[in-house]
Amino acid sequence: MKLTCIECPMGCEIEVVVTDGVVSVSGNGCPRGKLYAQNETVCPRRVLTTTVMTEKGIPVSVKTDKPVKKSEMQDLMQKINKITVCTPVKIGQIIENNLTEDINLVATSTLNK
Ligand code: SF4
Repeated sequence: MKLTCIECPMGCEIEVVVTDGVVSVSGNGCPRGKLYAQNETVCPRRVLTTTVMTEKGIPVSVKTDKPVKKSEMQDLMQKINKITVCTPVKIGQIIENNLTEDINLVATSTLNK
């Protein structure tokens, strides 16, 4: 499998070979790329970015504070869509503790309205 590392702007082209369950990685420019490729092969994750609504119906941008499993994103979006937040909201404010595992949902913008 060939991947483009998204951990930094270098965008190294990485080759991953899985033989008998053993993942070997080449083409990575640094250890972060190796870890990225291994995770991408076994259990890909992404930071989830979306919005939640305030009680006044205004959207506030949010994201998870750590990458979540791609396989869980649909379930998490259903959970997030049920969340309503009260204003004011400050950037960095935790909107939902432990959305999944030990991952929180945090605001990525400030809303004073
Ligand atoms: S392997 Fe390292 S240097 Fe290359 S894109 Fe990934 S993080 Fe950047």
